[in-house]
Amino acid sequence: MDRPRITIFDTTLRDGEQSPGCSMNVPEKLRLAQQLDRLGVDVIEAGFPIASDGDFEAVQKIAASVRRPIIAGLARACTGDVNRAWQALQGAARPRIHVFLATSDIHLKYKLRITREKCLEQAREAVRHAKSLCADVEFSPEDATRTDVPFLCQVVEAVIAAGATTVNIPDTVGYSMPEEYGQLIRTLREKVAGIDKVTISTHCHNDLGLAVANSLAGVQQGARQVECTINGIGERAGNASLEEIVMAMRVRPDRYRYETAVAGEHLYPSSQMLAEITRVPVQPNKAITGRNAFAHEAGIHQDGMLKNPLTYEIMTPQSVGVPDSRLVLGKHSGRHALALRCEQLGHQFERRDLDEVYRRFVVLADRIKKVQDSHLLELIQDVANGNASNGDGAASHGKKFPPAAASLPLPRAAAAGANFNDAHSAQVSGSAGQATVSIPFTDHHSEQEDYLWGV
Ligand SMILES: [Zn+2]
Repeated sequence: MDRPRITIFDTTLRDGEQSPGCSMNVPEKLRLAQQLDRLGVDVIEAGFPIASDGDFEAVQKIAASVRRPIIAGLARACTGDVNRAWQALQGAARPRIHVFLATSDIHLKYKLRITREKCLEQAREAVRHAKSLCADVEFSPEDATRTDVPFLCQVVEAVIAAGATTVNIPDTVGYSMPEEYGQLIRTLREKVAGIDKVTISTHCHNDLGLAVANSLAGVQQGARQVECTINGIGERAGNASLEEIVMAMRVRPDRYRYETAVAGEHLYPSSQMLAEITRVPVQPNKAITGRNAFAHEAGIHQDGMLKNPLTYEIMTPQSVGVPDSRLVLGKHSGRHALALRCEQLGHQFERRDLDEVYRRFVVLADRIKKVQDSHLLELIQDVANGNASNGDGAASHGKKFPPAAASLPLPRAAAAGANFNDAHSAQVSGSAGQATVSIPFTDHHSEQEDYLWGV
């Protein structure tokens, strides 16, 4: 059992959160961070502290209360960003500053308007500064897969010399092919001085549906950290899906002899919690966590499954935390069964809250006989929001969870800062004011146009 350990770096709260329709307020981010901790991820990228006051506060609160995993804050390669990230990470047990700077000619020329020499110097300086504050520094050359390879090697070598401990290779635009991405990781390992002293990381986007394949190809060539998100959410077509990465390694150890610390039984609850918080439903045929992922409807499949599940099942629903579908909740279900199903849906209740959920559940079950997960989620959300019961579990202020069949997310503020007008988060932040972006330093980024780019 000498399988290399892969670090799972979850960026649901940063790259995922910045995708349209997936914004979350501070209490929601904190709740999801606690679930990611239960899930067993190694690193939580909690936000981009300089991007908004809300992001700053989320990183700060998560750093203060989630103590086991490393908590990372994102920063562009400039003093102001790095300082702001470090400030947000002050309370963290294990802080990491994640610095990024684009390195492809197209980004240098049109976005940053700087030369390669300037880019190299800026990357080196920013990492050196981050290192003077924090021992754990990650660097990402944004758009690495479209960067001239010798120049990429030069940048990576410079940031390692400046103190970076993890070097992340983003396929920012989801352009790479698996063999190509694997080859790039191999080239870096062959050409860059000092690369064996740092962790190489993958960060792949799914524009061509290859984010997971590319990440796995990177791992096979020596990457030991994978950046990914729950349900694969993220910019445009999304990031590599955490649950798919983890289960590919677990189901096929003959091909991928690696291990992670992820607790499989928390995958489905994490997926459900994210869908509930963002109100973006999981695509039904989504691998691992979609509602049809373990559904066998065709007669011949059902027949095979009944004779031996191995005929059509490569992993059990239980191994990823999918609730036993034979367990139907009705009015005769006990408190224990209800608590168990709530837990499987990503909710753990104190005794008193469970009593309230149970009370409403019985009223509902009396009316509709068979309580589906979607009903239960609505009811749970009502209790969590402290709404008065109206007997059918429907929320009273428009935060109704969509029925399971809904295919479109409900409209939501797209901008990350916008939800800080929400009274719910204002309560916590102590300020109901519009979260505005302030740029404390004038540097190479005169505009805020790339705040929502990241890597
Ligand atoms: Zn990204």
